[in-house]
Amino acid sequence: MSERYFPDLMPSPGISRESLPWWEAALEGRLVVQRCTKCHAERHPPAPCCKSCGSHELDVRDTAGTGVVYTYTVVHQKLIPGMPEPYVVASIELDGTDGLRIVSNVVDIDPSKVRVGMEVEVVFEKMSDELMVPRFRPR
Ligand SMILES: [Zn+2]
Repeated sequence: MSERYFPDLMPSPGISRESLPWWEAALEGRLVVQRCTKCHAERHPPAPCCKSCGSHELDVRDTAGTGVVYTYTVVHQKLIPGMPEPYVVASIELDGTDGLRIVSNVVDIDPSKVRVGMEVEVVFEKMSDELMVPRFRPR
């Protein structure tokens, strides 16, 4: 059982045909980025075709699951029922990529202590049997 950070009532992400492999990897506890099998360009979030060569031949590759806080905001408003605020929404620059960033949450830390450049690692939150959502915590 993974640790829980957000309530069950939190809206589920929209899962598209392009993002399905990404979410399937997350369900296995793997943080991946989309990769073009022709020119090897990588991107996040997943898209229908490669932005570099236009190919539709895409797969995913595992990342280290680590990164740094590129930027963040602390949410103090009650936007989601049952959500204890304040909480952190951050853009995380993923290690071992060409500057790819993912929007997520920083957890396991007092929001007032989060800083740009802070080193973080992924932690997967099991929202249901079908959904694991990557969050990040300090490392
Ligand atoms: Zn390509």
